[in-house]
Amino acid sequence: MRIVIFGPQGAGKGTQAARIAEKYGIPAISTGEIFRWAIKGQTSLGLKAAEYVEHGRLVPDSVTIGVVGERLEAEDARDGWILDGFPRNIEQADALEQQLGDKGLALDAALVIEVPEEVSVERIVRRRVCSECGRNYSVVSPPAVDWTCDACGGEVVERTDDHDEAALRERLRLYHEQTEPLKAYYERKGLLRQVDGMGTTDEVFSAIVEVL
Ligand code: ADP
Ligand code: ZN
Repeated sequence: MRIVIFGPQGAGKGTQAARIAEKYGIPAISTGEIFRWAIKGQTSLGLKAAEYVEHGRLVPDSVTIGVVGERLEAEDARDGWILDGFPRNIEQADALEQQLGDKGLALDAALVIEVPEEVSVERIVRRRVCSECGRNYSVVSPPAVDWTCDACGGEVVERTDDHDEAALRERLRLYHEQTEPLKAYYERKGLLRQVDGMGTTDEVFSAIVEVL
């Protein structure tokens, strides 16, 4: 199974990608996570990506496409994956299609999770995330013990790009401008699967399994 998942900030992509990965036994690959790790570790990729991520802009395609291309070559990605946060524009979608095509492979589905903009903003404001494993929480469903991650014990914090209002506005703007056109793009290819992101995590997950 080779799937891409997209949707506005706070739609629940990361949470659902993790569940899909578990169900189908494939890795969930998040470009946002890759960049946050690189920034934390101050790698050369992190140094390149930092100012873009901080301001909610897209990391340049020349960087991002290379990073994803390499990640998809890894052993664990051989039999499938779910890509969370990539592609985010038409250029990236074309690059992915070409990389797959070169190997005689193709996408199985492009999932989009829809939520209204107000809900998106509300969820982002409440979101908290494990600084070690990336697991998502919120102020209304915090970890069991004192803001330490249930899964790994890491510190659960607010993402700096969620905390920064200008960065959040820019991310939403770029979603509408650059990423939303992917709906028509994948629709034309017969790959688009739309799911309503309102409802509980379980309800959204069931809807996803159904459309897949
Ligand atoms: P969100 O969807 O909530 O904005 P992500 O974790 O998916 O969060 O991405 C965080 C940031 O990482 C983005 O704002 C952007 O700076 C960078 N990023 C992630 N994926 C891409 C991509 N495909 N192309 C360019 N930049 C990306
Ligand atoms: Zn954790």
